[in-house]
Amino acid sequence: MSLRFRVLGSGSGGNATLVEGGGARVLLDAGLGPRQLAERLASAGVDPASLDAVLLSHEHGDHARGAAAFSAKWGVPLALTTGTFRAAGLAAAKLPAWAEIVAGETHTIRRLAVRAVAVPHDAAAPVAFVVSAGSASLGHATDLGHLSRGLVEALRGCDALLVESNYDPAMLRDGPYPWSLKERILGPFGHLSNEDVGRLLRRGLGEACRTVVLAHLSQKNNHPELALQAAEESLERAGRRDVGVALAPPDGTGWIAVRASRARHGQLRLF
Ligand SMILES: [Zn+2]
Ligand SMILES: [Zn+2]
Repeated sequence: MSLRFRVLGSGSGGNATLVEGGGARVLLDAGLGPRQLAERLASAGVDPASLDAVLLSHEHGDHARGAAAFSAKWGVPLALTTGTFRAAGLAAAKLPAWAEIVAGETHTIRRLAVRAVAVPHDAAAPVAFVVSAGSASLGHATDLGHLSRGLVEALRGCDALLVESNYDPAMLRDGPYPWSLKERILGPFGHLSNEDVGRLLRRGLGEACRTVVLAHLSQKNNHPELALQAAEESLERAGRRDVGVALAPPDGTGWIAVRASRARHGQLRLF
């Protein structure tokens, strides 16, 4: 069973990731407008109506902006926590259907397993996702103020990781944002810095991980080169030459395949 993903949008302009596996096709977040989402799906060769679900991590506009209109236009159900549903004001929306996601639980869509993991962020009930098809799994974690033990544990078994590398601390401190906003971003319910991601890669990365995608970079408080350099240095220090690292640009990536690593299962292929 194969698993692959493709970032359709990343950063404050709008976040969405397309994931295919286990006979299912889902969007993680829908922070682009419905037309733009449909266009980016078309460039990936995907009919929007063929999606099984749109899963939302939390209600902030850069993750949820297009969700209701996209869902209604293409008849694709939403899946989200009750807290996100309420905070996004979706009770009044004309949705074809929606299903509740519960943090700490694993949900299945066809043969795709999606585990929701609570994350510390200034939203009603935000979650990260661990998506698995067969023995391959992808961890998808954006918008979190710090690396909680529960999240690090959940990501440890993943073969690929998409994680936010939102800001460079010095750029944020010296940058144009008002201090109240800087405090929010730097705080325990804000966003992860390049340094936070570095710590995750040095201390929390599981043996199975082979691919790291840095996402949700701030255009004002970060440079792609700084984020990449911090991640590469951390992997180097951890002796992880087996891990490839890439950036998710604002307008997305191509397809990225997730392969189950032998390390997680301790099995040797004989034939
Ligand atoms: Zn965001
Ligand atoms: Zn957010």
